[in-house]
Amino acid sequence: MCGIFGIINHKDAVRIVYSGLYALQHRGQESSGIVSSDGKKTYSYLGMGLVSEIFNNEILEKLKGNISIGHTRYSTYGETTLKNAQPIIVKTVFGELAIAHNGNLINVKELRNKLEKEGSIFQTTSDSEVILHLIAKSSNLGLKFALLKALNQIKGAYSIILMTKNELYGIRDPFGVRPLCLGKLDKSYILSSETCAFDLLGAKYLREIKPGEIIRITKNDIKSFYINWSQNKKAHCIFEYIYFSRPDSIVFNKMVYDVRKELGRILAKEAPVDADFVIAIPDSANVAAVGYAEESKIPFEIGLIRSHYVGRTFIQPKQSIRDFNVKLKFNPVISPFLKNKRIIVIDDSIVRGTTSRKLIKMLRKTHVKEIHLRISCPPIKFPCFYGIDTPTKEELIASNYSVEEIRKFIGVDSLHYLSLEGLLKATGMKPDDFCVACFNGNYPIC
Ligand code: AMP
Repeated sequence: MCGIFGIINHKDAVRIVYSGLYALQHRGQESSGIVSSDGKKTYSYLGMGLVSEIFNNEILEKLKGNISIGHTRYSTYGETTLKNAQPIIVKTVFGELAIAHNGNLINVKELRNKLEKEGSIFQTTSDSEVILHLIAKSSNLGLKFALLKALNQIKGAYSIILMTKNELYGIRDPFGVRPLCLGKLDKSYILSSETCAFDLLGAKYLREIKPGEIIRITKNDIKSFYINWSQNKKAHCIFEYIYFSRPDSIVFNKMVYDVRKELGRILAKEAPVDADFVIAIPDSANVAAVGYAEESKIPFEIGLIRSHYVGRTFIQPKQSIRDFNVKLKFNPVISPFLKNKRIIVIDDSIVRGTTSRKLIKMLRKTHVKEIHLRISCPPIKFPCFYGIDTPTKEELIASNYSVEEIRKFIGVDSLHYLSLEGLLKATGMKPDDFCVACFNGNYPIC
């Protein structure tokens, strides 16, 4: 996934990027970085971990200038090392270029092999660096055309913020897979993965960067040009609505909260069950659970308490660490109000099934009578190649087992997933505008 953020023409550019990254922390907790420029020199600082762990006042003081970009990383391609933290900076004939990328390129291996044969030396294993090398290759064209030439060669999902010492570029792939938004704070333009960062800063949300759009912002000017006019098909990642984006963000021109609540409502219509309470797996399923409770008229209760001081466990690469983190993160409310009750548990998705299994075991400690699990998306059967770290087919439980087998594995009295039709209906948008490859295997970008 990853969160990207940038601002131009602001005396506190670095502090603003720092705050923006805080608001985008949910999009990646592995590493983070900020790059800035004062028009002459480029400054940067990158580190592993959370934004709050990486930066301090002293570090921020050293990053100067009125243009700055930042990145929070969640690795989907390339190793988990500081070397792969972003923004990445390279020296080119256009001066120093820094890139912050959200998404995954699908033809990165071919491009990288070709570039290496032609003499490019890579500093990282991340796919984003390929874009910079492609730009640097076309040094005789001028940055605008070098950029267009590079983008016409890459395939996949990308929302990108690129900066030179005095220009900011916002770029979105022609399918519009990942979000990217434009905002304004006083006289400064801001680019951000999600609008929740604008709210934090008191900035005005202007609009989304359009699929295929390259927006170039300088001190005095803002202009757009396009990657490929003939591309009409959109493929917005529907998982942004299910899980990834914050519910207080506007993504693909819709409030995530509204779509997520509708997921819960439709789920209640599709898979009703007689019960005493509706409970959410916090925080990712809270909104869908509210929708389910409203529609079913069954009261919503808090059955699990989540510690907010632990990062997303899914991101930990080793299974043993992931297991321990589930306990670190959740604890059931063992109170008489749940004893002998029938509860409906809402979760946003099942990937490997391991988290749900442990959480259900925890909830059994409350001595409830029945647990009915309802999932606010269809079974995830196919891996994502466009920037979500879904594991291989072998690890995806729904790819290998039937719903009944999953029900037994997780240990619930009943299990139902939202249908694909229900999911698409909840968006209120054209079904064809979404990538739903993780559910049906129809990959829109090949
Ligand atoms: P599991 O089934 O144990 O693999 O974990 C599923 C849980 O992880 C879901 O309930 C989501 O809240 C969360 N989740 C789903 N997809 C992702 C993802 N791509 N990255 C991180 N967490 C995820």
